[in-house]
Amino acid sequence: MNGHAVLGNVDMPTKGAMVILRSNSELDQWLAAAGGPIHFVPTMGGLHRGHQQLIRAARGAGGRVLVSVFVNPTQFAAGEDFTTYPRHPDRDIQQAADTDAVWFPTVEHIYGDANPDRSHAGSGPPIKPSLIQTLCGPWRPGHFEGVLMVMARLLERVQPALVVMGEKDWQQLTVLRQCLPALCEKRCRLLPVPVVREGDGLPCSSRNSRLSPSQRRQAALLPQALGDAEAAVQAGERRSAVLEQLVRARLDATELRVDYAQLVHPLTLQPCPHLDGVALLGVAVHVGPVRLLDHRFLLSRQPIIAIDGPAGTGKSTVTRLLAARLGLLHLDTGAMYRAVAWLMLENRQPIRSDAALQQLLETMELRLAWGDHGQQVICINGVDVSDAIRLPRVTATVPRVAALPQVRQVLTRQQRAFGQQGGLVSEGRDMGTAVFPNAELKVYLTATAAERARRRAADMTQRGQTPPPLATLEAQIAERDHLDRTRTEAPLRQAEDGVVVATDGITVEQVVDDLEELFHQRVPRGAEPWANTEPVA
Ligand code: C5P
Repeated sequence: MNGHAVLGNVDMPTKGAMVILRSNSELDQWLAAAGGPIHFVPTMGGLHRGHQQLIRAARGAGGRVLVSVFVNPTQFAAGEDFTTYPRHPDRDIQQAADTDAVWFPTVEHIYGDANPDRSHAGSGPPIKPSLIQTLCGPWRPGHFEGVLMVMARLLERVQPALVVMGEKDWQQLTVLRQCLPALCEKRCRLLPVPVVREGDGLPCSSRNSRLSPSQRRQAALLPQALGDAEAAVQAGERRSAVLEQLVRARLDATELRVDYAQLVHPLTLQPCPHLDGVALLGVAVHVGPVRLLDHRFLLSRQPIIAIDGPAGTGKSTVTRLLAARLGLLHLDTGAMYRAVAWLMLENRQPIRSDAALQQLLETMELRLAWGDHGQQVICINGVDVSDAIRLPRVTATVPRVAALPQVRQVLTRQQRAFGQQGGLVSEGRDMGTAVFPNAELKVYLTATAAERARRRAADMTQRGQTPPPLATLEAQIAERDHLDRTRTEAPLRQAEDGVVVATDGITVEQVVDDLEELFHQRVPRGAEPWANTEPVA
């Protein structure tokens, strides 16, 4: 077997010696001996550079790397290419070089039956019907049920800490993320890896090896057609019907036979009538004996993340770290309300809507800038108030200032202007509900009152201030929250399509990891990096 060790009497495999596993008991012995976490790369073989990228990603995460090679019969319909799917185990072993073990289960190993029919798929985890109404769903009935079924069985056997999969089959990834119990229950994490492409732009795929040279030249027109759609978006086109038709017309003029060209929302996979933010344009074509998939994420602007929640939930720290991790700008809108409150206090302006306030707002110059480490600097009428706005008298006044409709109108307009180009992680009280209702990811952070008071005290101490007793702080926070929640204009509340993240008892890093994962369910890793430029407003 190409000089690789076939598992006999399993000891802890030494690094660099790849083990080939051919039975369930060999797998079980290897897993028992592996000791540390298992990072799992499930494949159907025909390994190529795309798979090697998955293996590298798994390796980079530490732990033991296990690759499985299994052509799953229950995800193929009669007449599809199950029998002709590329099967080259020896070549796969060579291609999987930087792996600890390669597992070749048989159909019986997985299904307990040499000829499982598609009814097996019916006994797998339930699938969300909305995820298979578009893209490949209608073209491959039963396919995603089969994928879900085999993945549930593979993960049950392997119990990996991490499963590594490519973003190329985005619909498959989305179905698994939202329907596979081990992932939904967070018994295992999924690491998505950006699409790897050939020199001519075609995504690496095991099926590419079945194309003749001339079919291969035709196939390369697929990514080009998607590139045309992207160029149309850059030129201002937003109508999905026009974008889809553009791809279809371009491909209809070739030997490729189009199944679909469809613009969908990346998380819900529901059709997008209009491009607003980030959407996925997916295409499937037939060329010769092969059906090929490709997609492009189209962006009418860079992504926006909206983080809302009451005081003291860790919003600022989480937002700052997440922005730095994703290369996006941190927009702290609380600082803007604080700056206006500071100005009103300085001017001894009563906290009410009147002509004097109107005058103050019309003449005020509020400027934001970002330092080398992404920290937001805020100046009002030429004065840097970044520190002054954190003083307790400002904190105590700001919720009443923020409840004034005139103030909200002016600041919301300015925040939306910042958001026009996107590229932001914004934090506040109404980011997802009022300011950026089309944000790609909307998060509502919560924590218990006691925890929030503790955090606020720590924050004040760090700023050199003396915090009041915790009970007093808790009462002050409750008072601010009440004002923020009950005001008439843009009150603090969860966005309907927002994700609630409770932060008690978990570290800031864990919260940021979770938010990063949620973000990448909506915006692929392959779409980074965006230009990290300051917005002009
Ligand atoms: O987040 P921070 O504590 O700096 O926010 C200060 C206050 O600004 C909040 O209590 C709220 O009254 C107001 N605010 C708001 N809308 C936002 C951000 C902050 O009303 N988007």
